[in-house]
Amino acid sequence: MTSATSRDSSPIQRDGNDHLDTIAGALFRPMGVDGVYARTALYEHVIERLGALVTRLREPGAEVFRFPPVMSRGQLERSGYLKSFPNLLGCVCALHGTESEINQAVGRFEKGGDWTTSLSPADLVLSPAACYPIYPIAAARGPVPAGGLLFDVAADCFRHEPSRDLDRLQSFRMREFVRIGKPQDIVEFRERWMGRAEDLARSLGLPHRIEQASDPFFGRVGQMKAVAQVQQALKFELLIPVRSEESPTACMSFNNHRDHFGLTWSLADPVGEVAHTGCVAFGMDRLAVALFATHGIQLDRWPAGVRETLML
Ligand code: AMP
Ligand code: ZN
Repeated sequence: MTSATSRDSSPIQRDGNDHLDTIAGALFRPMGVDGVYARTALYEHVIERLGALVTRLREPGAEVFRFPPVMSRGQLERSGYLKSFPNLLGCVCALHGTESEINQAVGRFEKGGDWTTSLSPADLVLSPAACYPIYPIAAARGPVPAGGLLFDVAADCFRHEPSRDLDRLQSFRMREFVRIGKPQDIVEFRERWMGRAEDLARSLGLPHRIEQASDPFFGRVGQMKAVAQVQQALKFELLIPVRSEESPTACMSFNNHRDHFGLTWSLADPVGEVAHTGCVAFGMDRLAVALFATHGIQLDRWPAGVRETLML
């Protein structure tokens, strides 16, 4: 029996956190790779109710898009992702050769060899965040109108950070509200949503705090970027003690990209002033895991107020 098979037949690999290990079996089934799980009906029910709650909180006028789990490699390259998080990126590869080259690759596999040496990159990457595809879509419309733009987007995201921690997945759902407008529009939008996120966490009975944060930029140059990000207060996170009080889990983030995407995609107002952008990201899987970790796996025992908020 291969190790993958033996893992497949076990209830779920252990997370190493006793509390999360107890609930894991009710929420997930292993799929043979760390950080990629089949989700049970119980788990998906809560994800759905959570999604509906986020929709009820959406500001009027937001335009909705749901993206596939893949996006244009060219667009992500242009967004500067490789300068910041090359280690996290997943790229789609395919067998691009002729019929005979493809047959050779398959033949090698059938003889126990490696077929993957014949793979080459396709023009797709796995989306690492839900908001990347919206900026070129917005830019294609021409000048940003005076009042700015507001979007509600979501995607299945991938980040290459294999882990057995149930709150660190390789494949996870992200929902975002994205604002494009004047610098002050972004500042106000983010401020507003930090307040609403705290209200949301309270109404869900989740202990929490909002803290300034930085992204896990790659490498030594990345450390400097992270320091600059903190100095400029570009990122905040809603932290919930899912694993422990000492190292709480970031379940939402509040980001001000300033003119980064505006310059990248030539997003500007009618007089040519570069647009600023910002996003509020809901880590749907982390929020769901946080709910189960806090209230247990029996929904009928969750606090009445929480059940009401979620319309469970
Ligand atoms: P970020 O773009 O890093 O701020 O991510 C937005 C949100 O996605 C975070 O606040 C998390 O809730 C969620 N998220 C990020 N990485 C992961 C992961 N590896 N597993 C589960 N959720 C994640
Ligand atoms: Zn975003």
